[in-house]
Amino acid sequence: MTRIVVVSNRVGPLSDTGRAGGLAVALVDVLRDRGGLWFGWSGEVSEEGTFGPLQFHEDGNVSTATIDVAQADFDEFYAGFANRALWPTMHYRLDLTDFDKRLEQGYRRVNERFANRLVPLLRPDDIVWVHDYHFFFFGEELRRAGVTNPIGYFLHIPFPVPEVLTALPNHRRLAEAMSAYDLVGFQTNNHLEAFERYLLEEADGVRNADGSISAFGQTVLADAFPIGIDAGAFSKFHEADEGAENLTLMRRELDGQRQIVGVDRIDYSKGLPQRFEAFERLLELYPEHKGQVRLLQIAPPSRSEVRAYLQIQRLLEGLSGRINGRFADLDWTPIHLISRSFPRRALAGIYRASAVGLVTPLRDGMNLVAKEYVAAQDPEDPGVLVLSRFAGAVEEMTEAVIVNPYSIDELAEGLRQAIRMPREERIERWRALNEKVTTNTAAAWSRRYLDRLTAIHPPAAAEYDGPRAGVRDEVPSA
Ligand code: UDP
Repeated sequence: MTRIVVVSNRVGPLSDTGRAGGLAVALVDVLRDRGGLWFGWSGEVSEEGTFGPLQFHEDGNVSTATIDVAQADFDEFYAGFANRALWPTMHYRLDLTDFDKRLEQGYRRVNERFANRLVPLLRPDDIVWVHDYHFFFFGEELRRAGVTNPIGYFLHIPFPVPEVLTALPNHRRLAEAMSAYDLVGFQTNNHLEAFERYLLEEADGVRNADGSISAFGQTVLADAFPIGIDAGAFSKFHEADEGAENLTLMRRELDGQRQIVGVDRIDYSKGLPQRFEAFERLLELYPEHKGQVRLLQIAPPSRSEVRAYLQIQRLLEGLSGRINGRFADLDWTPIHLISRSFPRRALAGIYRASAVGLVTPLRDGMNLVAKEYVAAQDPEDPGVLVLSRFAGAVEEMTEAVIVNPYSIDELAEGLRQAIRMPREERIERWRALNEKVTTNTAAAWSRRYLDRLTAIHPPAAAEYDGPRAGVRDEVPSA
């Protein structure tokens, strides 16, 4: 059977989905289903870097192959162009970008090196699926190396409108590289339209009868494939282990208080300071909530090698300290800020114990926490999702309380509406949301994408005849 080859920056883990990140959960299913190879960065920095040996792991019909990067690669590719140029641009934060040419060169170099390390591992009938903003140039490099397999790409983060993207130096090269893929997938129609507008307006692209666009001498099909979660597992996590323990612990601790919960990596795109200020505004405007409602914000640090991330952490610590100092009482603390991560199983119990799920990014590709919060609720007494209009999830999750995260007043009113919402309305909104979350699962998402990719570019029917000549040392021993 045709093998799926997934390429992403971080690889695995292949087991214990309660601990794995969202991308791993979405991809493990499809890899297990069809058998496959998962290729990417080992997470290690070493002297040999991308020239070091490939590290292989096998688990049933799935194997992983990873390589290290050198310190310069890490600085320029990962901490550099990916997280200081692409991430802020794509999240509309041009004020935080660093467009140093050296970083871009490092990014391109790592894309080329990674692609060239994958080439010898490919079989003629493989389907290659490249993920996210770390690897925009990966497909182009594979084509340059003579790979003729189907190659798809999925962008997990937003794609900005041309007016913003064009601030990125070399934006044309980026769009050209994206056009080398057979199929480019986005989280939302909004991101899809932005990409197509770029090709049509900035790159003199021409739309073909089948919806594809020809630009840069290539033809690419793009579409929206909103990612889902493993909703079935999430709805059951609270029944055992850390999920059950946390649910019990939270209910005892809350003792009748209502809890608003936020769960976000520390990131300037998540709108965390605005969220704290909105909670403060709620307590100012409606003092009856004092002692009755608390905000639990789980905010594990991320990318601390990038200065903007450390700054936002300090800002949050200061804000929560100030608000707690202003409103706390002997038996009540308004904001609980926890700066560490929890396994997803544990989060499920916390979500279920919380009356409000507060998901208010300033910009987000999808936001899986919004879907997880819904999946974890008690159908008889569900909580309310308060969702930013700038999260990708909003295109599907229209029954949430939708807010503009830039307006502290609107956020505070959204919170008040959620806290006071009658049970019948909560149940009605939750049912509609849960229907979507349980239908468009992670497994359905990957199936939809791969079916589309193989319809455009069917894999070769060739039998696997061993690795290409001269590269046997790259293949794992059985
Ligand atoms: N997450 C986790 N532990 C934490 C915080 C977050 O496992 O302490 C998971 C969360 O359950 C979700 C993912 O990390 O699956 C975050 O995905 P999302 O799309 O919300 O945001 P991202 O971090 O990808 O920007």
